[in-house]
Amino acid sequence: MALIVQKFGGTSVASISHIENVARTIMGTREHGDDVVVVVSAMGLETDRLVDLANEIGVGNPAMHREMDVRLSTGEQVTIALLSMMLTKLGCDAKSYTGGQIPIVTDSTHTKARIEHIECRGLLGDIGAGRVPVVAGFQGVDKDKNITTLGRGGSDTTAVALAAVLKAKECQIYTDVEGVYTTDPRVVEDARCLERVTFEEMLELASLGSRVLHGRAVEFASKYNVPIRVLSSFSKTPGTLITGEEDSRMEQPIISGIAFTRDEAKLTVRGVDDVPGIASSILGPISAANIEVDMIVQNVAADNSTDFTFTVRRGEYERALTILKKVAEDIDAREVTGDNKIAKLSMVGVGMRSHAGVASKMFRILSEESINIQMISTSEIKISVVIDEKYLELAARALHSAFDLAPKTVKD
Ligand code: ADP
Ligand code: ASP
Ligand code: MG
Repeated sequence: MALIVQKFGGTSVASISHIENVARTIMGTREHGDDVVVVVSAMGLETDRLVDLANEIGVGNPAMHREMDVRLSTGEQVTIALLSMMLTKLGCDAKSYTGGQIPIVTDSTHTKARIEHIECRGLLGDIGAGRVPVVAGFQGVDKDKNITTLGRGGSDTTAVALAAVLKAKECQIYTDVEGVYTTDPRVVEDARCLERVTFEEMLELASLGSRVLHGRAVEFASKYNVPIRVLSSFSKTPGTLITGEEDSRMEQPIISGIAFTRDEAKLTVRGVDDVPGIASSILGPISAANIEVDMIVQNVAADNSTDFTFTVRRGEYERALTILKKVAEDIDAREVTGDNKIAKLSMVGVGMRSHAGVASKMFRILSEESINIQMISTSEIKISVVIDEKYLELAARALHSAFDLAPKTVKD
């Protein structure tokens, strides 16, 4: 007998009949002899609706971030109650918990809090009594009992964190696709479901835009060595297993997957003096305003003056532009330009370590499609490029095909 944490995403709990399906999956696992702790998301697109409502009022004022979390956390609270009621009706003892009731203690960074501690005595008591605890994902409380949320997609992180503290055998993430694919199957039709992925690759894929798993969830899994299995709520396929080990049965593929995100914007300060301290005088005020910077490029100076370009999240673009215009005046730069219609596409694979030439092939494929590369960044196991957003899907399809990521068809 083992303990398994099962997390069900928004689409998996979108209606009462979906919730019944989820209850039957949980009961099936228990009939196999395993104990289950459940984590759920808000129903369907409920969190989007809650965000939109708050945006109608406007949440620019930091004092409102606390109230945003009070509002956002309500979505999951509805699901835990409905699922616990459904389990009880079907004859399975269950009890719902909000993040604060466990408690899942986080820091106080509203809307993107980090888990600091989980008190699991109550959950262990339920398991001992043969009861299924149903925990609200995505939420916690800070040390002053303020409700916090973990960032969009954060229910995955609740599930993996619980699996870590409860020393579960596996954390199962039930979603609306059959596992982790070579790229988003909703964009590239012949994307292939992967049998296994390493934590290292999944961490890159998640942080570079594959929203199938929350990046922090993979960080937790890797740190505490919790195997994650991503699988479908709607079909009985084995899904994708994510662990620390590389699959020894086969040669590592050079590229495991392609991730992309439209959540990008680019800012350039033109004509800055090429002297020590310029990067810090440009980025200092940006980081003081709590704006995260991703890729950075500084050109080589031709005539003692240079251009400095960096990317930020699209939602922070206007704020960053305003700050930068002021900085440009202070440092006597020529002008500030920006573009918020860009996208970042990344190829990820541990096999890249032992294979040269991946970058040049990637650049050749993009040039054959007449796609201009605006920025490049690389690490040992990934290559990212910034391109015009309107070419994102074309680029993803072309690279997916050129790097043979589609399922192998048997030729007769
Ligand atoms: P849930 O509500 O269950 O948490 P999400 O919408 O957060 O589901 O994540 C599942 C979605 O992630 C899929 O519907 C798919 O469109 C998207 N996705 C992006 N990249 C990938 C990938 N590499 N593999 C699988 N799904 C992906
Ligand atoms: N309901 C939250 C969201 O939509 C958390 C989650 O589903 O993981 O982002
Ligand atoms: Mg999700």
